[in-house]
Amino acid sequence: ETYNRLLIVAYRLPFTIKQANEGVELVQNSGGLVSAVLSMAEQMGQSGSSTTPKIHWIGYGDPTLRHVEASTLENENFIAHPVFLEDQVNKGFYEGFSNDLIWPLFHYFPTYASFRDSDFMNYQQANMRFLEELTAVIEPGDLVWIHDFQLMLLPDMLRQAKPETNIGYFFHIPFPTYEIIKLLPRTWRQALIGGILGADVVGFHTADYAQHFMNSVSEVLALPSIEQRVVLPDRSVTVGAFPIGIDFNKFDLGGQTDEVLDIKKRYESLLGDTSVIFSVDRLDYAKGITYRLQGYERFLNQNPDWHDKITFVMTVVPSRDKIVQYQEIKREIEETVGRINGLFGTIGWRPIVYSYMSLSFPELLALYTLCDVALITPIRDGMNLVCKEFVASRHDCRGVLILSELAGAAQEMTEALIINPTDTQEVASAIKKALTMDPGEQERRMKFMRDHLQNHNVFRWSYNFLSAFDDAATNHSRLE
Ligand code: UDP
Repeated sequence: ETYNRLLIVAYRLPFTIKQANEGVELVQNSGGLVSAVLSMAEQMGQSGSSTTPKIHWIGYGDPTLRHVEASTLENENFIAHPVFLEDQVNKGFYEGFSNDLIWPLFHYFPTYASFRDSDFMNYQQANMRFLEELTAVIEPGDLVWIHDFQLMLLPDMLRQAKPETNIGYFFHIPFPTYEIIKLLPRTWRQALIGGILGADVVGFHTADYAQHFMNSVSEVLALPSIEQRVVLPDRSVTVGAFPIGIDFNKFDLGGQTDEVLDIKKRYESLLGDTSVIFSVDRLDYAKGITYRLQGYERFLNQNPDWHDKITFVMTVVPSRDKIVQYQEIKREIEETVGRINGLFGTIGWRPIVYSYMSLSFPELLALYTLCDVALITPIRDGMNLVCKEFVASRHDCRGVLILSELAGAAQEMTEALIINPTDTQEVASAIKKALTMDPGEQERRMKFMRDHLQNHNVFRWSYNFLSAFDDAATNHSRLE
């Protein structure tokens, strides 16, 4: 199957736009989605070179962009089409419905979820505005790939507006069981599930999420399905698991550059002669940061011989701090860090080195490669890329990954020490086991996981998603 062009729709545009002296400066995002999309375009015979078309990307437009000349919003790979929303619409759509309802609900925090009619109306309106921008760009034969929980209504809106379009949809967060979906007002859950079903191919990170979605399709809309396909009167929708990968080489090679080695040396001399546990996450209640600290505290209590010989470097990246639950979790984390450091620390030893900031890529790689243990303990996480990046960075095949069974990545990273994050005794024991694991076993586990990540990288992910379209097309012709 050949497609005209690849069109991407996601809340975030593929670059950050900075006001510079003369016009604007575009800084391309380094995230997985941008790499995946570039490689997908290449596979479709469309790459960023000057002789082939650029990729159109529809995303939220920051109000400051209103004054920017539209033609400047492109770089060598992408043409951005900003969707401008009134502040109050964006607030209800993004901060409200997306981050204050869907995010907590779908991460199994229903008590944190706020149900507001006005937020749903703004969510509908915002999805409609994305549709307007999209239909201004779309041409016959284009493949449209829509992303994530901010845009659940868009696939069906597009199907109604342009019935012949090839539409892919990928959901980047967990899709919960029907018992959770049932908490949504009936009209909302019908609209959201029906909205997603506008796509030809719907992807999730794990088979469980895909199964949960299939159950909800049957419970909410009473639609039949055959294996991994939802059967509609006039077409069918393929639903599948497509676990996202990372750009393995970027981390494998990146960890060995001179710049990273220099930073690593500096950090090592600052930390002194201790073993190092490392974690990094965005500030979020789903990341299980407080339980993680309690697990570490328990380890310190049970292993006085390790006092003085261990440092937990814990970085929290600022996120969503306008929402009250995020402010509360930040306070709770900082109190717990202070309490543990006060309880165990001495003049010469700080058990936890905590910071609330973002890291540059070389700083991140320095920490991935210098630590002895990566402690990744989300209570719920769609995938979790940090654990994959840590493993890919370990060209030396050393270091131990401790990983929550509630991260999507646990389905693949089976040679990690898999723990339940709320079981602080299990976390404490895993820390002990990791710190005393012999190098041979570290290497065996690391090799196994690194092979997997090398084979299932982000380019393979986009290839698999693209292939699902061709399979769907084959299935269609079989139905006829
Ligand atoms: N990351 C970042 N800034 C930092 C530290 C890390 O952007 O200061 C990146 C990290 O490399 C990873 C991503 O943020 O790619 C986090 O992805 P993950 O799936 O682990 O969690 P999410 O934040 O999407 O819930």
